[in-house]
Amino acid sequence: MLHIGCHLSPSEGLLKMARTASSIGADTFQFFSRNPRGSKAKPLDEADSDAMNAYLSGQAFAPVLVHAPYTLNPCAEKQETAQFAELVMRDDLQRCTAMRKPYYNFHPGSHVGQGEAAGIEKTAALLNRILSDDTDTTVLIETMSGQGSEIGGTFESVRAIIDEVRLNGRVGVCLDTCHVFQAGYDLVNDLDGVLSAFDRVIGLERLLFIHLNDSKYEIGQHKDRHAPIGEGFIGCEAVDRIVNHPALSNLPFCLETPHESLREYADEIALVRRMTE
Ligand code: FE
Ligand code: FE
Ligand code: ZN
Repeated sequence: MLHIGCHLSPSEGLLKMARTASSIGADTFQFFSRNPRGSKAKPLDEADSDAMNAYLSGQAFAPVLVHAPYTLNPCAEKQETAQFAELVMRDDLQRCTAMRKPYYNFHPGSHVGQGEAAGIEKTAALLNRILSDDTDTTVLIETMSGQGSEIGGTFESVRAIIDEVRLNGRVGVCLDTCHVFQAGYDLVNDLDGVLSAFDRVIGLERLLFIHLNDSKYEIGQHKDRHAPIGEGFIGCEAVDRIVNHPALSNLPFCLETPHESLREYADEIALVRRMTE
């Protein structure tokens, strides 16, 4: 059965968020670990976290995803910026450990002129520092569109980070369909080719989560602009093939599409579920 959900806000509490997910037909979801601009997180309410876990187990949810603030730059040249990313990610991992083992997803960041190799090395070094403490959370590197000097816009760069991480048994990949399409991987005309490249370069066993988004722009523009499913250049037919592909169909899918209301997400979840029936 397809596991699908969308991005939600934990502002009214974790249990409430899980109930909201259920009410819109989701059986997974994603939320920001803190304000996406990266400010201080509220202390974790453990009773609320336990209540969410009990609820999720009862409802047979797939793993959920905690997303790091997208403003972090783990490979920044500026010490303070890199240190801030480390501080936040270290704290987030502690919080994830206290939850029902969600995956923790992050963007590798932008090298801003240092060159890709330096960016890769700094990202891996940061993972080596934060994965050495006593957390057991699996961290996911998100595939990026290659906008600006973003690291992670090629499968090779993701692989290069993983190769330098000592505890890389705890590192997986979240494939964002809009991002890889923008990075130039042709999900529309050659899904099998893209997945075999992923397998050859990274290994499909690392692929643990999918961000399911359509793309506002044509392939290979390196523009990170999501569109609702069927309203972009990926289109419904390709999404249908993606959610039904044997290498992907058992993974959790999360929509990060631009919508205003929960009603629209409920409809989009239903739309994608119908493709697998
Ligand atoms: Fe992301
Ligand atoms: Fe994403
Ligand atoms: Zn994006």
